[in-house]
Amino acid sequence: MFEKIKSLFRKKENLSNRYVSCEYIQHGFNVDYEDIKMCCFNCHEGGGRQILIDNYKGEMINWDKFFKEKRKLRELNKRGITLERCKGCIFLKEREWDDEDYINYMVFNHWTQCNCKCRYCFTNEQSDYFNQRKNYNMYPVIKKLADMGKIRGGGEIGFGGGEPALLPEFEPMVNMLLDCGCDNIRVHSSGVKYSKAIERGVSEGKLIVVVSVDSGTPQTYENIKRVNHFNKVWENLEKYANAQTQNKYKVKTKFIIFPPYNDTKEEIDKFFELTVRAGIRSVVLDVEAMWYGQNKPNIPDYIYDLLDYAENKTKEFDMKDVEFYDRASHMRSHREEYKKLKENEQSNC
Ligand code: SF4
Ligand code: SF4
Repeated sequence: MFEKIKSLFRKKENLSNRYVSCEYIQHGFNVDYEDIKMCCFNCHEGGGRQILIDNYKGEMINWDKFFKEKRKLRELNKRGITLERCKGCIFLKEREWDDEDYINYMVFNHWTQCNCKCRYCFTNEQSDYFNQRKNYNMYPVIKKLADMGKIRGGGEIGFGGGEPALLPEFEPMVNMLLDCGCDNIRVHSSGVKYSKAIERGVSEGKLIVVVSVDSGTPQTYENIKRVNHFNKVWENLEKYANAQTQNKYKVKTKFIIFPPYNDTKEEIDKFFELTVRAGIRSVVLDVEAMWYGQNKPNIPDYIYDLLDYAENKTKEFDMKDVEFYDRASHMRSHREEYKKLKENEQSNC
């Protein structure tokens, strides 16, 4: 009520709430494994990931104090100040912002255990540390926020990790978020463990599950994931797909092109065949981050061709929803630029 009155006064005083800010500054946070950050984005000049609570291990958060701190950051934006860590971020935008205290953007990234051992996983670099570190339980902390009536729909909730379905609090957490009206939850799962909460979210059209299978054959799957759950994952994908309501493409298979393990047209063909057979009409395409970093900007032409090939497959199989994640999207929009850089390098040799 107080927030509504305040906003009416602002209107009366003709003070505009139009300024440059972003959804995470206004109403979001990212639960990481050692702290609570504002967001999880870091590919821009300022580096993002501003820490809101340092050295965090699951203690109860004083949410009133948390919102007070957020209001201070919001005030800076109102005065036209861009936070250092936000400089250059594509998510900054000028628009009308409300002045209310609530959360509708959350990212959960606070655990690292998984039932796969992907060669490209960030946990490989310090596998002992990541395998042994203890999870902390966010459920009571988020429940308090929910009990205060401070969680709303209309934003975006993301689960990364680690494998979310392995988290003991995952099922009650997703159910609570759905009960709070969250209508856009995205779970990146290995697909090895079936989750009834994912099934519920998918059936209600409020949760997207993305499973990166990266392969169309058990051999390639095992070579990349270093576990032998290929058939189990496709079985679970089919069960999730069966839970979808009509015209809601909430189950996505993902193919990360990862040379030299799966960079062939044959693998892509088989991946699409299995996707369609599972009743899925939505895919995500990307290029592996580490390989991309090492090869940019001299990415061989055949990788661009594979992306084109995969895109053609999406048309052939009448996919209803196709997403190109970060690297793939960047490569597609900068192909000509990279080509020129390559030509210049060759002519300078
Ligand atoms: S502007 Fe970008 S870096 Fe800053 S909080 Fe928003 S998403 Fe994060
Ligand atoms: S499924 Fe994800 S979290 Fe698990 S090992 Fe693979 S990349 Fe890492």
